[in-house]
Amino acid sequence: MMTCRDVSTTVATGRVGEQPLTTRLQIGMHLAICVHCRRFWQQLRAIDRGVVGWLRSVENDAPPDLSERVARRLVADPGASSKTHPTSPGAPGA
Ligand SMILES: [Zn+2]
Repeated sequence: MMTCRDVSTTVATGRVGEQPLTTRLQIGMHLAICVHCRRFWQQLRAIDRGVVGWLRSVENDAPPDLSERVARRLVADPGASSKTHPTSPGAPGA
């Protein structure tokens, strides 16, 4: 019998589908009877859907050539990704 810790840890990895059949069945049975783990699993799924939706909206709002411009900038100045953007809130001089 899997414990709540076993189930929540496995579910949080997002790799339930990679587990052996017996483990997946045990997780399914545990989720069917344990309201706490079921809520945790539902919250993870909601967060996952929210993040995917946000990423899609950001993707749609980004200029079509954004990744090309970022790649060009990184090639031209490899240290640029570790520098603070001068107009970032909280940056010195902002
Ligand atoms: Zn549980």
